[in-house]
Amino acid sequence: MLNAEIVQLSCLQDNYCCLIHDAENNITAVIDTPDAEVIEAALEQRGWQLDYILTTHHHWDHIDGHLALKQRYNCRVTGPAENQDEIPGIDQTVAGGDTLQLGRIRMQVIATPGHTLGHVCYWAPELQAVFVGDTLFSMGCGRLFEGTAAQMWQSMQALRELPEATAIYCGHEYTASNARFALNLEPDNQLLQERCEQVQQLREQGVPTLPTSVNQERKTNPFMRADVPELQALVGMEGMPPAEVFAEIRRRKDQA
Ligand code: ZN
Ligand code: FE
Repeated sequence: MLNAEIVQLSCLQDNYCCLIHDAENNITAVIDTPDAEVIEAALEQRGWQLDYILTTHHHWDHIDGHLALKQRYNCRVTGPAENQDEIPGIDQTVAGGDTLQLGRIRMQVIATPGHTLGHVCYWAPELQAVFVGDTLFSMGCGRLFEGTAAQMWQSMQALRELPEATAIYCGHEYTASNARFALNLEPDNQLLQERCEQVQQLREQGVPTLPTSVNQERKTNPFMRADVPELQALVGMEGMPPAEVFAEIRRRKDQA
């Protein structure tokens, strides 16, 4: 068994980033850097150095701490080739299908265009975890800033195909508002009802609703369910191409 630890950190208003630590080799990576000070404090508290920054996409709330952390730890910055000019301090570009070896931790890069064109997710099969940035949220997905609905639907499918026990670490705590939208769309989905109740309780206690899981999102996330006949019927698009159904759900959420 791989002796590794994942630490999810709350940053800024509603961002999360994750530290991943290989204890055997004393190697640490961070996925995105919303706040250098929060990340530094978490590293210091554990006596860890920072070896790698992995970037999901180029939006400021995911790269803001890159240069400060690189300066302090001399860590290696990795990010998507497609948007490399917009990633401060980048040393290595990645694209879908690439594999990174961080100590004993193997990270597979999954291309997930939609929110941005270069957006990538990092999947650690041995840790049963995937880090999805702003592609997927619990019961939601990222807004389409650069890509098309068809691209984002492809990205949803790529994540949906991961082993169902895989933990999903997202870039934002948007779960409560996503839950309201999802339940409004699918009021009779019992698993969704249960998840919404759980989310409400967690938020009342100020506890993160993340990570979620592939299994949970498959059953409760409307953006992953654009090809499910029951959901298609609820939006009046039975038998339509899933990418179009996805586009309609995304449109409704944008207007919600
Ligand atoms: Zn973003
Ligand atoms: Fe973001």
